[in-house]
Amino acid sequence: MRYADLHLHTYHSDGTRSPREVIDLARERGITIVAISDHDNVAAYFEIKPYANERGVTLISAAELSCIVDGHDVHILAYAFDAADERLEQRLRQFRATRERRGAQMVEKLRALGYPIERRRVEQLAAGGALGRPHVARALVEAGHAGSVSDAFDKLLGSGKPAFVDKERFRVDEAVALVRSVGGVTSIAHPTLYPNHEELVPRLLDAGVDAVEVFHPKVDAEWSERYANVARFRGKFVTGGSDDHGAAKEIETLGTVRVPESLLGPILERL
Ligand code: AMP
Ligand code: FE
Ligand code: FE
Ligand code: ZN
Repeated sequence: MRYADLHLHTYHSDGTRSPREVIDLARERGITIVAISDHDNVAAYFEIKPYANERGVTLISAAELSCIVDGHDVHILAYAFDAADERLEQRLRQFRATRERRGAQMVEKLRALGYPIERRRVEQLAAGGALGRPHVARALVEAGHAGSVSDAFDKLLGSGKPAFVDKERFRVDEAVALVRSVGGVTSIAHPTLYPNHEELVPRLLDAGVDAVEVFHPKVDAEWSERYANVARFRGKFVTGGSDDHGAAKEIETLGTVRVPESLLGPILERL
């Protein structure tokens, strides 16, 4: 039996690991099916596909898409799509461009609030990938304006905090249709993190999302079982992953979630 981790971030979004490091570490921890699901970015897939093949790791194309549903932020994971299809890439490129403008706006706000950081440093930390609040947070920590990344979120960057700038998001039906049009499937990321999740999860499945991420460090065993049943009842499937961001988060989670390949038919059959 092989095991999968289908939720991982690299420095192409707000993780700190390189794609190669992710492949090596996953293998070391007994995981040989990997999906790197960077926010708004598929670059890791192209970068590391040949290496993954060489190392006997099945790499699945993936991305984590920020969507809006009734004013709530919902993350939708996309899997096993044709990564070379320009329709998805074009849309993601737009999101990455607006993320860069938003980064500059946050830097301006922080300067006005008395927490000066260099825009160039934030861009360096993002390294050409999807620029996000974690990069701004790391620059704040480096400059001594915050004790940690989570301190920076609590104090300045979290939703509603003084340096917060909202970002553009997908409508969930647009995300689902786009991913489907390029041959992929979708899953509701970390379902229990949304305030209205009990009502939301069944509704999103009925609206066309294909799966629920029931294995995730922040989804406890009870909810995991419950949502696995909700999915099964509707003829949908389940996914899972560690949501590892390397050192960008207080805890590194790679290896803590192992999904048996037998659950992943609808993804594996698309490869
Ligand atoms: P963004 O997409 O730029 O709005 O940034 C959201 C990302 O920030 C999430 O994907 C998480 O990785 C990270 N994040 C959100 N809240 C926190 C927090 N309180 N502490 C640390 N990281 C966070
Ligand atoms: Fe993230
Ligand atoms: Fe997420
Ligand atoms: Zn994630």
